[in-house]
Amino acid sequence: MSVVVYVESQNGIIKKAGLEVASYGRAIANAIQTNLVAVTFNVNDASMLNNHGVDKVCNINTTGDTFFNVDRYSASLAAVIENETATLVVVSATANGRYLGPILAAAIKAAYVSNVVALPSAYDPVTVKRSCFTNKAFNACVSNQSKTVISLSSNAFGLKEYTSEAEYTEAEYLNSNSTLKVTATDSISDKVTIADADIVVSGGRGLKGPENWHLIEDLASVLGAATACSKPVSDMGWRPHSEHVGQTGKPVASNLYIAIGVSGAIQHLAGINSSKVKVVINNDPEAPFFKAADYGIVGDAFEVVPKLIEKLKAIKQ
Ligand SMILES: Cc1cc2nc3c(=O)[nH]c(=O)nc-3n(C[C@H](O)[C@H](O)[C@H](O)COP(=O)(O)OP(=O)(O)OC[C@H]3O[C@@H](n4cnc5c(N)ncnc54)[C@H](O)[C@@H]3O)c2cc1C
Repeated sequence: MSVVVYVESQNGIIKKAGLEVASYGRAIANAIQTNLVAVTFNVNDASMLNNHGVDKVCNINTTGDTFFNVDRYSASLAAVIENETATLVVVSATANGRYLGPILAAAIKAAYVSNVVALPSAYDPVTVKRSCFTNKAFNACVSNQSKTVISLSSNAFGLKEYTSEAEYTEAEYLNSNSTLKVTATDSISDKVTIADADIVVSGGRGLKGPENWHLIEDLASVLGAATACSKPVSDMGWRPHSEHVGQTGKPVASNLYIAIGVSGAIQHLAGINSSKVKVVINNDPEAPFFKAADYGIVGDAFEVVPKLIEKLKAIKQ
């Protein structure tokens, strides 16, 4: 019996979310004293998984199928899970992970627990803490199935170092009777995505117009951050919809979220609540964001942000 984690990659390179599920899987494997098996797709060099305690890497080559195919990924993973007699499976809460998790759980007749934010507090039955109501509350979820698929919230566990020497194997990319096939994908930008970013710099209507977005971009560039915005900003076409965060936009679970000229409406906060440290820059001391933030600067963004960029550049040099 092993713990199986689905380690996500992009262009053959393991994503941070993949390393996080490996770290989390290792901690579970330690707790129940078993092996950790990582399943990767199209990864040639998985050696970095040795730093996260993986005992076995099972790589699947999807030759001829360039894009993520949820049914074939699920069928191939299910076969590995059966082979390894795994009862605990972990996927990350990325876009693909959220798509795959429930389908995989149905395929292997497992319970599916989403938004998990901590290690299981018990293993018989599996009991895990999950966040709900857009991170406003938590509940302890008890699995009533013999198998459980856990979807781990981004940045909830973090990357942990465990040294191991993984055995490398290959598994078959199985067919499925899927009626859906992705034939092309288009990348909106080659910048760090909101989902993968450790730091997100976000702008709101307080920036007055798209011509001022260099402030957000320059700050993001010096911090190596992704850029985001509030809903009205994307509705007005100042920024692309892919940057809209909040209840009706993308969720953000970064380590640092900097909101500039964003009021902190409940619908905006709903999407960024699970970010670890929240910083707000706003010229209105009564702006609701100050109540939700860890740090706040009351000031004009057009004065504060250039100074911040200057200081950060000086520190970097
Ligand atoms: C069903 C529904 C779903 C929604 N979903 C979302 C969502 O997913 N995401 C989202 O963001 N919103 C969402 N909204 C909209 C939300 O209610 C707010 O209207 C929106 O978040 C406000 O955007 P904002 O903070 O950019 O603008 P504003 O509310 O106009 O706030 C601008 C802020 O900038 C500050 N400011 C002005 N000038 C400066 C300056 N020079 N320097 C510093 N600060 C300055 C102001 O003090 C103010 O606090 C939703 C609304 C509804 C009804």
